[in-house]
Amino acid sequence: MDRIIVVGTGFSGSILARRIAEECGRRVEVIEKRSHIGGNMYDEYDRHGILVQRYGPHFLNTNKYWIIEYLSGYADLYPHDAHLLSFIDGEYVQLPFNFRTLQQLVGAKRSERLLEKLRTRFAGRDRVPVFELVDSGDADISEYGTLLFEKAYRTYTAKQWGLQPEEIDRSVLERVPMAMSFDARYLNKDFQYLPKKGYAGIFRRLLSHENITVTLNTDALAHIRFDDENNMITYDGEAVELLVFTGNIDELFGLKYGRLPYRSLDIRYTYENVRSILPEEIVSYPQAPGYTRSTEYKKLTYGLDQDIPVSMIATEYPLEYDPSDERAIIPYYPVLTEASRRMYSKYVEEAERYGNIVLCGRLAEFRYYNMDVCIEHAFEKFKDISYRLNRAK
Ligand SMILES: Cc1cc2nc3c(=O)[nH]c(=O)nc-3n(C[C@H](O)[C@H](O)[C@H](O)COP(=O)(O)OP(=O)(O)OC[C@H]3O[C@@H](n4cnc5c(N)ncnc54)[C@H](O)[C@@H]3O)c2cc1C
Repeated sequence: MDRIIVVGTGFSGSILARRIAEECGRRVEVIEKRSHIGGNMYDEYDRHGILVQRYGPHFLNTNKYWIIEYLSGYADLYPHDAHLLSFIDGEYVQLPFNFRTLQQLVGAKRSERLLEKLRTRFAGRDRVPVFELVDSGDADISEYGTLLFEKAYRTYTAKQWGLQPEEIDRSVLERVPMAMSFDARYLNKDFQYLPKKGYAGIFRRLLSHENITVTLNTDALAHIRFDDENNMITYDGEAVELLVFTGNIDELFGLKYGRLPYRSLDIRYTYENVRSILPEEIVSYPQAPGYTRSTEYKKLTYGLDQDIPVSMIATEYPLEYDPSDERAIIPYYPVLTEASRRMYSKYVEEAERYGNIVLCGRLAEFRYYNMDVCIEHAFEKFKDISYRLNRAK
């Protein structure tokens, strides 16, 4: 009984497969249901030579330099600060909302008093969630927070999540901040990078090891069976020593407690014979019907190798994850509500009964993980795995 199965080739599955293969010297079978590796980080060059991230734009950003060093072992990274605009009331304003946005939205004259108040009230704070402005208790700050909330936030959230802000877990709402400065970088982490030749190469290198075999186009669930009587897991009828699962946990257990809710994205591409389409690499459209944002991928690598007379934008139309709807078959964002958290706990209890399932990643753990957290978390999980495998020797 020595089969080690890793389901999924996103960061969670690929990192764990590599470390088990390299550091524990064990053979690892990696199963991926899509036709490519990399999960939602997958990118590829289109027919014009534009590097397109097929599942939405990803910016590597972290305060932990060891993560940059680790990934540098698998890719050539270059510094890149993400810049976004939001199109509100017919005008482009910077995202995150910052002091410049405030001046644009309320006018320079009115902004003077408000800026002073914000500086005093939130002294020492780099970024403050918009809902904290609303709840601040100061009439002026709260009025501005409410303006942001109503003009940008409520509509964007309703499209993105299919819910009103009041129905969504607070941790999700906290992710939309206002910068307490003129800082126009979308993210405020210390180290912000992109891989020069894209993310896919990172996964190819991670998974290229003599102890690793990768099988694509294969749904692991068609091969995994639970033997409740003997508390055993089998893959194609053979006992599994360790199952590292990074897919949807509810699907692993046949949806027995119900389907966990996810949001999906229908991403539509528009090409134009021009060098540039958008005023910035990403523009969000809180007030537009149906879609949330557009990315002009050429601008993410502009100046490196993409100076071509064609450009393209990828526009995201959020919709409910539904494996029976072609447009919505990829689970992108877990929808965190009290009910979904409760359902998730039941699945975790189910997994714990077996003792040899390691749940890792944003689907299996039903959490929104940024890449850096996802990587760090996979490292943590590896500590337990290596202890277990060494003990079994
Ligand atoms: C639109 C979007 C934008 C993002 N932008 C950023 C960003 O700018 N910066 C950042 O740090 N993070 C960003 N993230 C988060 C980042 O994508 C995740 O941290 C990371 O992709 C998580 O990797 P994972 O391995 O946990 O999951 P995934 O990448 O989803 O990998 C899971 C894999 O398991 C496979 N799988 C599932 N079920 C099965 C099965 N039954 N059989 C076989 N294979 C299966 C899937 O096909 C998939 O390949 C973004 C996420 C989204 C959705």
